[in-house]
Amino acid sequence: QAAAAQLYTDQDPLVILSSGSLQTSVTNSSSAWLVQFFSSWCGHCIQYSGTWKSLAQDVQDWQLVINMAVLDCALEENFDVCKEYSIRFYPTFKYFRAHSPATDRGTIYRGADRQIQSVRQLMINILQNHTRLDRPNHCPPLDPYSSVDLLPLLGQRSDHYTAIIIEDPDSYVGREVILDLLPFSGLEVKRCLSSELPLLDALKITTFPSIYLLHPNGTHTHLHVQKRLRFFFSSVLRTLPGVQRRLTSEGSSSSVGLVGALQHRHLQPWRDFDRSKVYTADLESALHYLLRVELATHNTLEGEELKVFKDFVTLVAKLYPGGGSVVKLMETLSDWLLSLPLQRIPYQAVLDLVDNKMSISGVFLGAELRWVGCQGSQAGLRGYPCSLWTLFHVLTVQHEATPTAMENTGLEDEAAPVLQVMRRYIRMFFGCEQCGRHFEQAAAATMDQVQTRDQQILWLWNQHNMVNYRLAGSLSDDPLFPKAPWPSPSLCASCHEEKNGVHVWNYDNVLLFLRHHYGASNLSPRYSM
Ligand code: FAD
Repeated sequence: QAAAAQLYTDQDPLVILSSGSLQTSVTNSSSAWLVQFFSSWCGHCIQYSGTWKSLAQDVQDWQLVINMAVLDCALEENFDVCKEYSIRFYPTFKYFRAHSPATDRGTIYRGADRQIQSVRQLMINILQNHTRLDRPNHCPPLDPYSSVDLLPLLGQRSDHYTAIIIEDPDSYVGREVILDLLPFSGLEVKRCLSSELPLLDALKITTFPSIYLLHPNGTHTHLHVQKRLRFFFSSVLRTLPGVQRRLTSEGSSSSVGLVGALQHRHLQPWRDFDRSKVYTADLESALHYLLRVELATHNTLEGEELKVFKDFVTLVAKLYPGGGSVVKLMETLSDWLLSLPLQRIPYQAVLDLVDNKMSISGVFLGAELRWVGCQGSQAGLRGYPCSLWTLFHVLTVQHEATPTAMENTGLEDEAAPVLQVMRRYIRMFFGCEQCGRHFEQAAAATMDQVQTRDQQILWLWNQHNMVNYRLAGSLSDDPLFPKAPWPSPSLCASCHEEKNGVHVWNYDNVLLFLRHHYGASNLSPRYSM
């Protein structure tokens, strides 16, 4: 088990099969399956696991119609089943069509090229090889439509958008986008070939691939994207008003706890805000909630808890941008904590100090929670966890911008003090226990590799995206703010590229973007746009 657990874990967006679950999962299934039979002692399998995981993440939204799985033939419990399925070499790739009988032992994929783009195209071919009768239950039509089918739709009203992707015959983009949008409601995606001249004439389309949008009210427009890439097409469609990810209960076990544990708040009137800004109201509300609600559940702080709390206060005092009343409060708290000879402090004393300070200046921390960029569309969504991420992103950027800020704090020798303090805070105090466990796993795996300030910024960004991937479509996903890789192309087009048909980040541009987005000059003191 240990070796398999290292190669693939339940954090990866694929199914880990075993002798007991293989046949019942892959046959008589409403979806197709692509299974990699590997051996955890085979060096090539170990090297290839990164590609398989990246592919699984790339096609995570296709799971309703085709699932990716692994089975480790090196485990004794799986010896018999690997023999039964005639697995002689590792890795062996087999696919199973939807609704296949229990006797099906799968079809071997022998393609020499096992790179992401080729296997992804194989997955599409598998889906298209089904007949109308046996295709996966939720598989949308993947064949191209003709002008005759599509022209009558122009000008028609409907209860949803229809996007038409017009592309060359050898292009897979249309089918990929159709499958990317599978878990979303409010939109249908169809494809059509660049040889459909009547449609092309009617829509005045001359470059491919292009995307054309029919609105529910009967109007239609050519949809402009900055780059004609799958990621840009899928991203722009996902963010159309009214297009929403259908929620699943998967990945949400922790969100139930999170909602219950963290969100005691009433919904306030909606405030329009600008997604390209960071609002100080959110940062202050994060501190308000943290100090007055989350920590207030602890009657006393002592030992490791007290140390973590002191470090957190020091970090915010030194790195919170723009000075002002928050910094003054944190400095006062920090001085007070450092001056105390006590090993153990009643938390009420902290609250008294925070209250006292507030009554002197009146404006240290807002007297109530006021979310702006972290507003949720319903009570229980977004709010505190959103603001905590935001606060720590701001602190990573500020740590890079102010190289001497941490001197003489006791934290100056840590390579990544913001991450280390965040890790300890989340482990010790964050109300969502499951979230803490996940974060700790990620931190234990890679946080020690962070050596520089810019790596610190990027580590947190990447880890946050891992959480976004995992939670997309879960109960904590606000339909108005669906979880997706961030920043979106509309916030930062130059952050996104494609290499060998696979979406890749341009890390230099992501770093530039993060420095700007979470930098002091992008902080807005306003409570709405
Ligand atoms: P959030 O994910 O909270 O993001 C807030 C804002 O940050 C976004 O609106 C966006 O502007 C920006 N942003 C988004 N992605 C990035 C990025 N990659 N880099 C920089 N900025 C970004 N919930 C669970 O259900 N299960 C968990 O295991 C879990 N783990 C968590 C671990 C931590 C450390 C934290 C702080 C929260 C965790 N949560 C977890 C909560 C969850 O991540 C969200 O915070 C919550 O669901 C609210 O989501 P949101 O839509 O407001 O966006």
